[in-house]
Amino acid sequence: ISKIGVLTSGGDAPGMNAAIRGVTRYAIEKGLAVEGIIRGYEGLLRHETITLDRRTVGGIIHRGGTILRTARCLEFMEKDVQKEAADYLRSLEIDALVVIGGDGSMRGAQALSHCGIPTMVIPGTIDNDMMGTQYTIGFDTTVNTVLESINKIRDTASSHERVAVIEVMGRNAGFIALYAGMASGAEAVLVPEHEVNLPRLCEHLAESHRIGKLSSIVVVAEGAAKGTDVVDYIKEHTYLEPNLTVLGYVQRGGAPSALDATMAGLYAQKAIDSLLAGTYNCVIGLIGRRIAATPYSEAPHFHFPISDNMYQLVHMLGR
Ligand code: ATP
Repeated sequence: ISKIGVLTSGGDAPGMNAAIRGVTRYAIEKGLAVEGIIRGYEGLLRHETITLDRRTVGGIIHRGGTILRTARCLEFMEKDVQKEAADYLRSLEIDALVVIGGDGSMRGAQALSHCGIPTMVIPGTIDNDMMGTQYTIGFDTTVNTVLESINKIRDTASSHERVAVIEVMGRNAGFIALYAGMASGAEAVLVPEHEVNLPRLCEHLAESHRIGKLSSIVVVAEGAAKGTDVVDYIKEHTYLEPNLTVLGYVQRGGAPSALDATMAGLYAQKAIDSLLAGTYNCVIGLIGRRIAATPYSEAPHFHFPISDNMYQLVHMLGR
């Protein structure tokens, strides 16, 4: 191969820029030309590209968001649109496409590979919920952002003897809620993977209050329950005073943590090395202590859900 394309797709995640930089500079180091596609799959339909060199990706390793911008492109679900995109990539003489994004972006990459374009996915999503990897770029930064917010909210919660309910991102997976809950010493976490039992939550909170706890933290993943419903339930069924913080987009932004910027570079290297070795249509990921390239078809065998043990432990330690 002599030329690759790179795009970012789906929700932005801290460390995407570090991945773009890593892909570009490592590819150039190996003698490849690099074309950046603007706005994810949408850019393939609108024909928006930019040639990347060492300098265009300078000064971005520490920046949140993505310089290539990103989009959710619903049209791309259609077969003829995918074919059109593949033809466009061929017209640019792009031999392989590196996609930085989440689960949905991986399905898009898979669709392009069915149209004859070799693709490679670098996991970039704050949710940490992708098959084929135990770690997605952006997750660590987000957990740290949430942790910082919880620590601030806790100050107020304990001064006013309140229950702080904090809603975080995670529609299908509870990684952010679980890790932020664990690290902040939350009393409870609600995640989509476990049944939400509000009566038991209330008992737990009332008991904590009775034994002298000044405040309680409950971290709710958006996919488990609505923060407002949790607050209303607590208000109705206990004498406690709950308040709600929905963290929203602060969770997506900011400079990547050391871990995210580092993983971005390592994943980028693996992606390019694999392509150069003739391996493609894979998702790059951390499996155990190894960075692997797993074919899309085998990725479902490498599914790493949240740990049951950790879920139990948060509640045990939060009493
Ligand atoms: P995040 O985890 O941050 O939400 P994501 O990559 O999962 O990221 P999605 O919005 O699910 O985000 O997907 C990004 C884009 O990938 C979609 O807008 C669409 O263009 C493409 N895509 C998703 N699913 C498919 C599919 N089944 N076939 C083709 N393309 C898809």
